[in-house]
Amino acid sequence: MIYLDHAASTPARPEARAAMEPWLADAGNPSSLHAAGRRARRAVEDARERVAARLGADPKEIVFTSGATEANHLALLGVAGHVVTTSIEHASVLELCATRVAPDAEGVVSAKDVAAAVTPKTVLVSVMAVNNETGAVQPLEAIRRALPKGVLLHTDAAQAVGRFPVDLAVADLVTFSAHKIQGPKGVGGLRVRKGVALAPLLKGGGQEFERRAGTENVAGIVGFAAALDLACAALAEDVARQAALRDRLEAGLGGTRNGPAAGRAAHLANVAFEGVDGEAAVLALDAEGVCVSSGSACASGGTEPSHVLLAMGQSKARAKAGIRFSLGPSTTEAEIDAAVQAARRVVERLRKR
Ligand code: PMP
Repeated sequence: MIYLDHAASTPARPEARAAMEPWLADAGNPSSLHAAGRRARRAVEDARERVAARLGADPKEIVFTSGATEANHLALLGVAGHVVTTSIEHASVLELCATRVAPDAEGVVSAKDVAAAVTPKTVLVSVMAVNNETGAVQPLEAIRRALPKGVLLHTDAAQAVGRFPVDLAVADLVTFSAHKIQGPKGVGGLRVRKGVALAPLLKGGGQEFERRAGTENVAGIVGFAAALDLACAALAEDVARQAALRDRLEAGLGGTRNGPAAGRAAHLANVAFEGVDGEAAVLALDAEGVCVSSGSACASGGTEPSHVLLAMGQSKARAKAGIRFSLGPSTTEAEIDAAVQAARRVVERLRKR
């Protein structure tokens, strides 16, 4: 099997699994006073310090959650007031927010348009760092500069943290997820800059600085810290390798690129072939042993065209043609070449239908 759906999820690194292993059967609740509890607490706080260091944050600014979906909910529902977002966000942001700024035809939003959508009632602006369908990097710094003082900036950086270098220091709130960077599924978090008032979604315990009640996912948090350390240590090298492989893939595939030529993350390639339905191509590629997706995994299963490609101004038919190939640090040149051959066969076959 050739797995080219690393934007949906990635295989956990052996080192992350090894770090988690002792905690999977451990009894300790980090809130307990006894030795077992204290040991679990130390593991969580050690992980928090490492994650904070990688994000350039203070450990007290890191709130662990069940993943990026929950972190996005905490950021958007934890503030009281009007929220502005973009029409290319992940569904977990989009569905919470009515004011949506459209991107240009390449899938990039403009700081000017975002600032124009801000009203005196706006308390928070949420713009993703890297789009999960096209890889388009959003202009966070320009957006920050264009926002009035006092308006908070949140960024869903699930496709950026540990994956693609983006300056996240301009955001007050940063969402991240472990399973996008070869860590375990079901864990992630939110960086909450000191001084930001945020009401908890989950109440009933003082965990995570009273911002997220519930016993900590010790194994998941420890596995995430291990995965993030390794991802960040090899980031420049991994990005360069994946960019070269992504270019090789696009050159081999032909078709039309969705997304900007420059200013996009290295791990994503979104390509449309005229006259070929994206979902049909995904199923045919699957039968050839190649895992890719049309749209995002969360939206798949339905036959609706991608909301991201529609927001970029594409027709329904064109938006349904998009196929997303996404790479990871483990992707090889041989896999790319085999995927290109399979895709060419599939496109030729589907066009003949
Ligand atoms: N935001 C983005 C940009 C994503 O790509 C994803 C994963 N599809 C999520 C949020 C949701 O992340 P999680 O699975 O950790 O809830």
